[in-house]
Amino acid sequence: MVQTISLLGSTGSIGRQTLDVCREQGIRVAALTARNSIGLLEEQAREFRPRLVAVSELEPALELAKRLAGLDVEVAYGLEGLRRVASLPESEAVVTAVVGMAALWPTMAAIEAGKRVAFANKETLVCAGELVMEAARRYGAEIIPVDSEHSAIFQCLQGSRDRGEIKRLILTCSGGPFFGLRREEISKKTKADALRHPNWSMGEKITIDCATLMNKGLEFIEAMRLFRVTPEQVEVVIHRQSIIHSMVEFRDGAVLAQMGTPDMRLPIRYALTCPDRKQSALPPLDLLQCPPLTFAPPDLEAFPCLRMAMDCARTGGASCAVLNGANEAAVELFRRERISLGQIPELVAEALDKIPNVSRPAMEDILEADRQARECVTKAVQ
Ligand code: NDP
Ligand code: MG
Repeated sequence: MVQTISLLGSTGSIGRQTLDVCREQGIRVAALTARNSIGLLEEQAREFRPRLVAVSELEPALELAKRLAGLDVEVAYGLEGLRRVASLPESEAVVTAVVGMAALWPTMAAIEAGKRVAFANKETLVCAGELVMEAARRYGAEIIPVDSEHSAIFQCLQGSRDRGEIKRLILTCSGGPFFGLRREEISKKTKADALRHPNWSMGEKITIDCATLMNKGLEFIEAMRLFRVTPEQVEVVIHRQSIIHSMVEFRDGAVLAQMGTPDMRLPIRYALTCPDRKQSALPPLDLLQCPPLTFAPPDLEAFPCLRMAMDCARTGGASCAVLNGANEAAVELFRRERISLGQIPELVAEALDKIPNVSRPAMEDILEADRQARECVTKAVQ
C-alpha cells in the first residue's frame, strides 16, 4: 500500500472520492491540483496540508496563495505546476483524476519519475496509450487502472502471469440513461436528460459520454492499451445493474468477474492499496436483494459513438486521437448547449472522415490529430 500520493484533479468527482479514500486509509496527500476551483482547493489544502498545490492559470494561483498565506503550502501554476505535482519526490503514487487530454503531460511526468500511476483519466490512454504504456515499461512506472471496468479486469488478472492466457475481456456497460431508445429519440435528448445517469454519479463530461456510449467506446480502446489485447479480444455487454464491473475469459474457459456495489472508491482504494485489500465502509453486496443480473448486446445503430470507437480501435494509428479530440470538443459544445446531443456523433464522424489517418504515430502526430479534430468540430459548428 502507498503512504503518500499526489492527486491531479482533486476538485472533481474522482478527485474528491480519492480524498475520501485517503481519509479512510490515512494516506498522506503531498500535492493537489485543480483547473480553477480555488474555493474547494483551499478547503482541501487546509484539511490535508499538502506541500504543493497547483492550478492552471496565474490569476487563480495568486488568489489561492493569498488565501493560503500562513500555511506551509506552496502554490504553483500552469503545466509546469502540474508536472511538479506529478513528479514530487515524496509521492509514491500519482492519481490522474484530471478530465481530458489535459492530463497527458502531467501523466507522462509521473511515468518518467517512475511513480505508481493510479490511472483514472482515460482520454490520454485512448489517444496515446501505446506511447504511454511503452514509457511506463521504460521508466518502470506501475500503471494501475481506476476506471471501474479496467480495475475489475486488473483484479481478475491478479495471479495470471501470462497475457497469452487471456481469451477475451468482457466490458460491462450500464447502457446509460437512453438504453432501449432509437437513434432519433436519443438525438433530441437535452443536457438535463443526459446528465441523469442511472447508477453512477460522475463529472459532466464522462456522464455525457455515458449517455452516447462514447464512454464505452473509449473504454474499449483503453482496455486494449492497458492489457495489450486485440480489438477482437474485447467484447461489450450491456448489464443494466452495474453489479458485475467486467470479466476476463481465460483460454481454459474459466470466466472471472469482479462484482460489488457500484462505488468508485473501491477501484480507487484498490489502486492505492494493491496488492493488499484494506477495510472499507462500502455497503456489502446483498445478492438476495439484488435485481436479476441481465446481459444484452449493445445497439450500435442507436449508439454510433460506440460503433465509431470500435472502428477506430481496429484502424489504429492516430484515428483514436481524432475520435477523442472531436468528442471532447463536441461534448464541450453540448455542455454549453450550443449543439444537440445528436450532433455529437455527427461531428465526430465528420472529423474522422476529413482528417487523414497516420499509422504508427509519434507523440507529435497524436497532438496534431487532436488539434485538427478540435478545429474540425469548431469550424463545422461555426
Ligand atoms: P470532473 O470533471 O469531475 O473533474 C475534473 C478535474 O480535473 C477537476 O479537478 C478539474 O478542476 C480538473 N481539470 C479539468 N480540466 C482541466 C484542465 N484543462 N487542466 C487541469 N485540470 C483540469 O471529472 P471526473 O472526476 O468525473 O473524471 C476525471 C477522469 O476520470 C476523466 O478522464 C474520466 O473519464 C475518468 N473517470 C471518471 C469516473 C467517475 O466516476 N467520475 C469513472 C471512471 C473514469 P476544476 O474543478 O477546477 O475544474
Ligand atoms: Mg468506466
